[in-house]
Amino acid sequence: MDKQKELGKVAQEVEVCRTCSLAKSATHPVPGNGNPNAEIMLIGEAPGYWEDQKGIPFVGVAGKLLDELLASIDLSREKVFVTNVLKHRPPNNRDPSPEEVKVCQPFLERQINVIQPKVIITLGRFAMYHFLPLGKISRDHGQGKVIESAGQRLILIPMYHPAAALRAGEVNRQLKEDFKNIPAEVKRLGKSLNSPAGPEEKKPDKEEQLTLI
Ligand code: URA
Repeated sequence: MDKQKELGKVAQEVEVCRTCSLAKSATHPVPGNGNPNAEIMLIGEAPGYWEDQKGIPFVGVAGKLLDELLASIDLSREKVFVTNVLKHRPPNNRDPSPEEVKVCQPFLERQINVIQPKVIITLGRFAMYHFLPLGKISRDHGQGKVIESAGQRLILIPMYHPAAALRAGEVNRQLKEDFKNIPAEVKRLGKSLNSPAGPEEKKPDKEEQLTLI
């Protein structure tokens, strides 16, 4: 599959989508960007002011923090794919409505299907809810789990949202710590990811193990 081409098709459909009213007030659609062959996908909530201006996710202050967090574990935007639950900016950065989340969801699901990431990092509670509807960010942040999404097993690691970290020192500290711990979570869970029978029942060969970071 030509992943770049397939992601381009999703982006074109996002551009003309008028299923909800957000496109009316938005300046640009923000479908997502990054490496189509990424093993790691990051999912935020919705575009903010600067993302709406530029059509690129996480390019404002929260994006700068995200870049620093990625750099802290030797990652960069070129290596990952970044997108949001909503592909158009909600007016005044209000929370996404359940209806907006519902109608935008197929775009996110198609992106996950095309990219087939081994690891998904959700940023904030709205992105976490897509995978863990009963999740609680204050409890679940930083803790990876193996989940099945669109028929594929992958590692999900919910994180606090960088914008929340910019508002509260303790969240910032925790987010940095959680990010630093991503390689250890991937290593820990990579074993069970490669082994549907569970890590105790089948030990993966060395080559099978994830070496993402
Ligand atoms: N916050 C998000 O959730 N996404 C962005 O792209 C920017 C800020």
